Amino acid sequence: MARFRRKLANSAEQTSMQGLKTVIPFLIAATFFVWTSEARQQGPQRDGAGVRPGVLPKAWLLGGPKCIETPEFQVHEYNEDFYILRQSGCSNYEKPFLFLLFGRDRALLLDTGAGKTEIARVVNNVMKQWLTRNKRQSIQLVVAHTHAHGDHTGGDEQLKSLFGTILVAPNLNAVQSFFGLKNWPEEIAQYDLGDRILDVIPIPGHEATSIAIYDRQSGVLFTGDSLYPGRLYVRDQVQFIQSIQRLVDFTQNRLLTHILGNHIENTRTPYLDYPIGTIYQPDEHALELGRGELLELNEALHQMKGTLVRMALRDLTIWPM
Ligand SMILES: [Zn+2]
Ligand SMILES: [Zn+2]
Repeated sequence: MARFRRKLANSAEQTSMQGLKTVIPFLIAATFFVWTSEARQQGPQRDGAGVRPGVLPKAWLLGGPKCIETPEFQVHEYNEDFYILRQSGCSNYEKPFLFLLFGRDRALLLDTGAGKTEIARVVNNVMKQWLTRNKRQSIQLVVAHTHAHGDHTGGDEQLKSLFGTILVAPNLNAVQSFFGLKNWPEEIAQYDLGDRILDVIPIPGHEATSIAIYDRQSGVLFTGDSLYPGRLYVRDQVQFIQSIQRLVDFTQNRLLTHILGNHIENTRTPYLDYPIGTIYQPDEHALELGRGELLELNEALHQMKGTLVRMALRDLTIWPM
């Protein structure tokens, strides 16, 4: 009986060995396939995945403590065709960020700052330097907005007076017709600066005309006041939830280097923000966020099941109005 059992066990072992022999080459092939396809998707790439690189500052100029020493705008060169302007807290406590992108045929200024400033002179200087560097006589300037709130449209009148400027008025009709967004807010439009295509994504909710802009060249997504390290004021909850989901879907299969919003209100301490109206923020959060924060925001919004409540996440706060 023992011998018989032994025989049975032996034949079972043989069968499983034979099975393994057939399975092993398949397993190796499958592992190799997964490894190579993952390596293609996730491995570091020597050309930076084809995205044009740029540099963000380690810290932004702080408004104060001595305002007399603080310029109205800090101009930061991310790369030769991409500038970030930050308004000083001494000039306006909102301290908004503005973005200036150059293509072959035109430049786009996104937002014009808070209140009355010297923005036209500052933008003109950057454009002059760009023209000299590129040995060009002129370039068309287009001024558009992430949304219509006053802390992002303060310099509109001044900039309109710069020679040859096209200003997209901060209202829904003008934004829709300029970018060709017929089916608002579902449709995503493209706008070409000349060898530099931008995707224009409607994201109403913080404000009715809110848009996000994705710059394919740098891989940066501009999100205005809808996503930044601070208090995300939500006026239309239904639209806001849909808009954040739209950004999640849009970024799913795209290279995303940075999400750049319009303000910094959080400190570097998780869950902690500066009080509204703070001018001097010596320990402020970095401006840039990544897709992780976008996903975290989206998840928190969905968990609230249609009725948003004020909630601090690590790097920002959901703030229904
Ligand atoms: Zn706003
Ligand atoms: Zn704002």
